[in-house]
Amino acid sequence: MAETNWKHVKDENFSTAILPWGATEAHNYHLPYATDNILAQEVAIRAAGKAWDKKAKAVVLPTIPFGVNTGQMDVKLCMNLNPSTQYAILRDVAQVLDKHNINKLVILNAHGGNNFKQMIRELSLEFPEIFACSVNWWQSTSAKPYFEEPGDHAGELETAAVMHLRPELVLPLDQAGEGRAKTFKMNALKEGWASAQREWTQVTPDTGVGNPKAATVEKGRVFFEKTTDMIADFFLELHRADLKDMYE
Ligand SMILES: [Zn+2]
Repeated sequence: MAETNWKHVKDENFSTAILPWGATEAHNYHLPYATDNILAQEVAIRAAGKAWDKKAKAVVLPTIPFGVNTGQMDVKLCMNLNPSTQYAILRDVAQVLDKHNINKLVILNAHGGNNFKQMIRELSLEFPEIFACSVNWWQSTSAKPYFEEPGDHAGELETAAVMHLRPELVLPLDQAGEGRAKTFKMNALKEGWASAQREWTQVTPDTGVGNPKAATVEKGRVFFEKTTDMIADFFLELHRADLKDMYE
């Protein structure tokens, strides 16, 4: 949408809005602060383009560049948006869509600290006509076959994807940290059945979680194409879906 114009938009009958949502934060030494924004935007555009070729009327909105980074406040210039602010933004976006009868919304998320599940519940009460959902792009297919060690944050997966999409923004990998992260001492937290926020600077010295060293442009390209195929299929199904007949 950012690159089109009123001439094309005014008569187009969009069924679905795609809202890429990223974050602005340190990504180890070697990846740009906008990593999650680049990934959210490029995945959304590529997947919507593939779906559009099959006649899915999905419009990609501009990327929201700030995410929830409450655990990274002590990392220089990690830009935190509190969850309540994030909901306020989501709500205003939904209000515009509602006004123009676009009643299918996909939040295309690229940041682990963003979690829209509860927000979508609340949104459903305010805008009952809108079907909202969220996709974590990196989870649309298993990363295991594509990477030695995908990693959580600025690891092999994200590094490879940015090397593919914006190679000029990635420092040589010999300048990257190893992304070695500590885990909680307490068992319940370590095993994941108790959950808590991690204090980032106490967990990882280079801000990365996951070793990026095995990342390659080719791995990034193959994974990007696979995930955008998956997500494009979802956009197409959603475009065709009858919101009054969603269950089988
Ligand atoms: Zn990231």
